[in-house]
Amino acid sequence: MSDPAPLRCATHPEVETNLRCGKCGKLICPRCLVQTPVGSRCGECARLYKLPTYRVSTAYYLRAAGAALIIAVILGLAWGFISRFLPFIYLNLLIAAGIGFAIGEVVGLAVNRKRGTGLAVIGGFGVAVCYAVNILTFGDIPGLNIWLIIDIAGLAIGIYTAVNRLR
Ligand SMILES: [Zn+2]
Ligand SMILES: [Zn+2]
Repeated sequence: MSDPAPLRCATHPEVETNLRCGKCGKLICPRCLVQTPVGSRCGECARLYKLPTYRVSTAYYLRAAGAALIIAVILGLAWGFISRFLPFIYLNLLIAAGIGFAIGEVVGLAVNRKRGTGLAVIGGFGVAVCYAVNILTFGDIPGLNIWLIIDIAGLAIGIYTAVNRLR
């Protein structure tokens, strides 16, 4: 009676191992094992596995877009109203950052804190819609003056803030 042959890694036959992929059961060694949040995986299974946070279905995109649109219109109206009383037009930049943050938050909450490029794009569009509502309802459409520059800068800041929270 001899000892049973030692188990060897399926990818590296020179390495003895008793580790197995938690999904397909393939023998793996420390060199090819991939740690995922759900345990050790072989390279193939780890590639198939995507972090749930980054898995976004169409329904989630619709929810994100709906939430972004609603909050963008509400905040745009409020913003347009407030900006009439702003003592200092540069405050608009601060508000823009706050708007970007709020839209990023609301979209994030609507999709259970999932993240992804698509969601970041939706958040960015939300900020643009918000700005449009702000200017079209209460503000004047800016000509080529300081307001236009402030508005473009604010739009950029708002989009940047929202995108960063969702990417
Ligand atoms: Zn596997
Ligand atoms: Zn191996």
